[in-house]
Amino acid sequence: MLTGTEIRDAKMNTVPQFCAEMPADILELLLAENEPCAVHPVAHIAPKPATDRYFIRCKDCLAINAHDVPRGFNWWHELPTKHFPDPMGWSSGSTYPICPCGGTLEDMGKVQRSRLVHQHEESVCDDRCTQARGPNCDCKCGGENHGSKRTIVITRDAGGIPQAEIPCNVENGRLYREAKESAWKRWYAKYSDVQNRKQEGWIRDFDFYLESERARGRYLELCAGRTTARTKKLNEFLR
Ligand SMILES: [Zn+2]
Ligand SMILES: [Zn+2]
Ligand SMILES: [Zn+2]
Repeated sequence: MLTGTEIRDAKMNTVPQFCAEMPADILELLLAENEPCAVHPVAHIAPKPATDRYFIRCKDCLAINAHDVPRGFNWWHELPTKHFPDPMGWSSGSTYPICPCGGTLEDMGKVQRSRLVHQHEESVCDDRCTQARGPNCDCKCGGENHGSKRTIVITRDAGGIPQAEIPCNVENGRLYREAKESAWKRWYAKYSDVQNRKQEGWIRDFDFYLESERARGRYLELCAGRTTARTKKLNEFLR
């Protein structure tokens, strides 16, 4: 039986012998201190940056595209945009990301496991508390989050992940916009009078007014649809 010290000595003795039997080039590799390349190739691969996959959809032609973007990158503001003037002239209008067909885009959500989700940050209390500068707290947290600027991420389910990407279809976009516009013109021709009279006060044909409201709801519902069937339905609306 060898003692601990004897085992150590035995090992120390065998190492040089073992090395001496090895071919010189391998020995060189093993002993080289500044050339870890051949021994640890993995160490030279840069870690893959974290990315998130988002899906965006064109509201007009219903094209669907996946976007893989570095985590935390504000990619939405990098998309091509178009300025839409306010039809009523009350504001300077709005600028939205657009599809090649001219339709506006919508963020369908970010892939998280097998679902799409929408996420946003919220103050843990309300903003008046977490963003407060003064010392007085009178909210339900009793001062715990006061002035902390603390936020939490709220995750909301946004449906299943699209099975495939769908390319832009300029013609589909145009047909949808045309159908939408003509459907609204028919609504306006039929109901703008009763709507105006209602604005001015009591009306005799209140049922007709209610009908106009239901039709407006139906119109908005059709526009909000996200299948190509909505174009046909809009063309049939109020005919
Ligand atoms: Zn489009
Ligand atoms: Zn507070
Ligand atoms: Zn609070």
